Amino acid sequence: MDETPFGDDTLHEECGVFGIFERADAAAVVTLGLHALQHRGQEAAGIVSHDGAQFHVERHAGLIGDTFTKPQVLERLPGTSAIGHTRYATTGGGGLRNVQPFFAELSAGGFAVAHNGNITNAMTVQRELQRRGSIFSSTSDTETILHLVATSGARAFVDKLIDALSRLEGAFSLVGLSASSMIGVRDPLGIRPLVLGELEGSVILASETCALDIIGAEFVRDVEPGEMVVVTESGVESVFPFQSRRPRFCIFEYVYFARPDSNVEGRNVYDIRKKIGMELARESHVDADVVVPVPDSGVPAAIGYAQEAVLPFELGIIRNHYVGRTFIQPTDSIRHMGVKLKHNANRMMIEGKRVVLVDDSIVRGTTSQKIVQMVREAGAREVHMRIASPPTSASCFYGVDTPEKAKLLASRMTIDEMAEFIQVDSLAFLSIDGLYRACGETERSKISPQFCDACFTGDYPTSLTDQDGADNVRQLSLLGGAG
Ligand code: AMP
Repeated sequence: MDETPFGDDTLHEECGVFGIFERADAAAVVTLGLHALQHRGQEAAGIVSHDGAQFHVERHAGLIGDTFTKPQVLERLPGTSAIGHTRYATTGGGGLRNVQPFFAELSAGGFAVAHNGNITNAMTVQRELQRRGSIFSSTSDTETILHLVATSGARAFVDKLIDALSRLEGAFSLVGLSASSMIGVRDPLGIRPLVLGELEGSVILASETCALDIIGAEFVRDVEPGEMVVVTESGVESVFPFQSRRPRFCIFEYVYFARPDSNVEGRNVYDIRKKIGMELARESHVDADVVVPVPDSGVPAAIGYAQEAVLPFELGIIRNHYVGRTFIQPTDSIRHMGVKLKHNANRMMIEGKRVVLVDDSIVRGTTSQKIVQMVREAGAREVHMRIASPPTSASCFYGVDTPEKAKLLASRMTIDEMAEFIQVDSLAFLSIDGLYRACGETERSKISPQFCDACFTGDYPTSLTDQDGADNVRQLSLLGGAG
């Protein structure tokens, strides 16, 4: 059975991480933080707590609210320090053993790790470790980190972790918990977000600031690309143990993935999305009567588009919030049905009108095709699709769930062909420079791009060791990305 969100046989995940150090009811606070990060992963979640003497681990399928709000579950997670993880995709055969945080008793003591991102040489490193006798109990690349820590020759625990991470390529924003410390690390390019917060003296690490807001915590700062923060009873220590590189934060976090009320790398996500919509209106004007977003992801960009184009903004499509994301559908036919379950046209706002339909991205084209049909059936006179990002033409190997390249509409069709496929009167995408402008840059630097935009440009900022060779690509389907 096809179990991955995009229906392909490779697994990539999107994840959220959260941790708090030295706080009564740590696991309950983590539960709230993870609830705010639910958009980063809805398939499963886990929390590991430490009570001063031992670690406690709970990992369950489903949403945070399905399990972790139950008193009997929280009672099994005592302690004043805890970390947690929300995970997007499940993989065939993986099941609960791939749910994070991972925990292991190492010679240096117990250690739990929750990871957002995807390690692009995990398969290769895993093979090497297996040849030397390591036994893996999951198919997740995050377990590789634990094995590398376990086998490191360094003496101090933090040095073992640095040693382990130095061997890995790709994206990692991770939160770790040992008996005496909580550790946060971002890869040298800082591809995925990670922030430092504080709640009445207790230190917090979280994927996004919205997870601080939910508990009334203060935002302290972003953990910097290549930085490791070590939180102990004596405070927060910061080190930069990796070779320094020009950061390349994931621009797709701004387009789609992060929550609009989060501030990421100094920018408010909602504000960027509105600016994206304004750029789009400037770049691809069309005579129309109304701007309609594809909810929810197209809303901020549509507001920006309507403002710039001086057109009315209307909720011409209403979303039913009681179904999961379109992609969490087991088969192609159900996925098509999913779109209908999720959206309905608001006929009164559309009938007889020339509609500008705004969405954040086209991946396979399934959503757009169905939505356009729906808007036409509701009586739209013309439908002009405007996409708030450049064509998604390459897979992400850094922790955002995209299908293999061949399944991306933009990798096999021209824009005219795509317009024909989704049956619109016109179709336009935001240019890559337009996207950079919305993010506050004058243009995309050709020599040293300011962001990771590989999904739009195919320009991958790290080696993709596991992708080198068909054999490894096949193997990757068995190896879960860390999310
Ligand atoms: P489709 O073109 O039917 O494959 O779906 C495109 C829609 O999926 C976009 O409007 C986005 O809102 C959403 N989307 C884009 N990327 C992702 C992703 N990585 N995971 C889940 N949904 C996504």
